This record gives sequence, C-alpha cells and structure tokens, in this order.
Amino acid sequence: MQLRLQSFLERPKHARATVIDCRPGFEGPYFEGSGPEDSVCGHCSHVLIRGRLTAYLNLYLCCPSCGRYNLAHGGEEGERA
Ligand SMILES: [Zn+2]
Repeated sequence: MQLRLQSFLERPKHARATVIDCRPGFEGPYFEGSGPEDSVCGHCSHVLIRGRLTAYLNLYLCCPSCGRYNLAHGGEEGERA
C-alpha cells in the first residue's frame, strides 16, 4: 500500500514547519516505520517513508528524486502511546 503525500514545488516557509532538505547522494527513505504502508512523493511516487510512523507532525521532506517538498503528517488519532 502507498500513501501519496501532498507535494509542493517551493520550500515551505512556515515558522512552525520542520523541513528536511535533500542531501547529495541520499535517496531515502528518511524513516523506517512499521506496517506495509509506505509514504511516497505525491509527484513522482518515490518512497520517502517506509512503513508507518506515528510520531511526526508537520514535517516536510524533500524528495530526492524530483526535489519537491512533501508534507508528512502522521499518526492516527488516539494512537499516541
Ligand atoms: Zn518526488
């Protein structure tokens, strides 16, 4: 299963957003979670997060493949440990 993230062409400027920029040579994924659901770039479907994470919010991940910023907001309501 794949969860397509919302992708943005420009780097987000909100003060409260955490932005992870692309690094040369890094192809991802940025995080490894659990379960079969991968989060992929909304533009090119590159895998950014493998599995599901429950503890991130308002995190923008630069896609190593196309360079767009993808908004990852994870966790299901009530799932907090
Ligand atoms: Zn991409």
